[in-house]
Amino acid sequence: MSSSRPVDPQTSASPVVDTRDRQLRDLRISVTDRCNFRCVYCMPKEVFGKDFTFMERDELLTFEEITRLAGIAVAHGVEKIRLTGGEPLLRKGLEDLVGMLTALRTPAGAQIDVALTTNGSALASKAASLKDAGLQRVTVSLDSLDDATFKAANDVDFPVSKVLHAIDVAHQIGLGPIKINMVVKRGQNDHDIVAMARHFKDTPHILRFIEYMDVGASNDWKMAEVVPSSEVISRIHAELPLEPVTANYPGETSSRWRYQDGTGEIGVISSVTQAFCHSCTRVRVSTEGKLYTCLFATEGHDLRAIMRGGCSDQQLSAAMAQLWAERTDNYSQRRSARTSELRATGKTKIEMSYIGG
Ligand code: SAM
Ligand code: SF4
Ligand code: SF4
Repeated sequence: MSSSRPVDPQTSASPVVDTRDRQLRDLRISVTDRCNFRCVYCMPKEVFGKDFTFMERDELLTFEEITRLAGIAVAHGVEKIRLTGGEPLLRKGLEDLVGMLTALRTPAGAQIDVALTTNGSALASKAASLKDAGLQRVTVSLDSLDDATFKAANDVDFPVSKVLHAIDVAHQIGLGPIKINMVVKRGQNDHDIVAMARHFKDTPHILRFIEYMDVGASNDWKMAEVVPSSEVISRIHAELPLEPVTANYPGETSSRWRYQDGTGEIGVISSVTQAFCHSCTRVRVSTEGKLYTCLFATEGHDLRAIMRGGCSDQQLSAAMAQLWAERTDNYSQRRSARTSELRATGKTKIEMSYIGG
């Protein structure tokens, strides 16, 4: 492990490496803290109820501010940008932002990979304009094929059929390959693992099973509710034989498996049982412009204040490089110890809906 190093503003527009030798490569931007779902593991109604105060419009980063930050991140090595939230499609005019971000180029002149994670509720009506704006791919969250289970998870009575329709529309429009994210929570939707696998087998979509995580402070997470990816794989393998596939690139968060009969592929994201902090190259920018170097951070760095204070691009670039160079995060590799440390200090982790998944 190398030690934290100061960053020279003159040379800061170049790839940056943190204290654990991880290069900055991915940027996740939360474009809104609002959502029309109340998924029980993310925005439970008891916390995000009618009285909950969301951010005011002028608190949100503008599209120009987001693009400015993204451009600087790209100069520092970011090659992939994901728009998330809250529900990103609730942000008005999102297509304009997509257009601004897809116009960015790496220092070598290559295009940036711009993708979006959505609950699918508004995707059918927006897929065409997003594609026209330059969006390459979408990831759609879907936790069950069974209406009762899905409605219990989203807690707003949203039916499965509308999400499946949105996936079809997005596919036809060319926003693929589409990834489908299923967060597996024991006792809530784990009975639907094999049915989901069966449904998306033989399609071009890639279903990914995500271990339920202890993000934020409102979902009352318990280890007993996590279904380890190894169990997901063995449950599917018992009915639909699988074999492992080599990763697309080093540090890919999802482990890939394919059906032995050649009818498609699935992924498992084992954030809890097989932490991948050693290869974590992601930085996150919250809705109001705080930079977080970890999904489980308790504090962010206020880049909006720096920008609205009138800083130059060079100053902003140096600030970002410095924050990454000082990064030590590896929460998931020491989850239990860290969870009790946080309880003892009274600090709370940032909510997923605010920082983006
Ligand atoms: N609203 C969009 C959606 O649901 O796709 C984007 C934001 S959501 C926070 C991003 C991803 O985080 C979703 O796939 C969601 O299922 C996942 N997620 C939310 N809370 C989670 C948790 N506690 N553990 C694991 N994944 C979670
Ligand atoms: Fe909304 Fe996505 Fe969180 Fe569900 S997971 S509450 S859709 S932000
Ligand atoms: Fe990255 Fe933090 Fe998750 Fe580890 S816990 S993989 S450092 S976001």
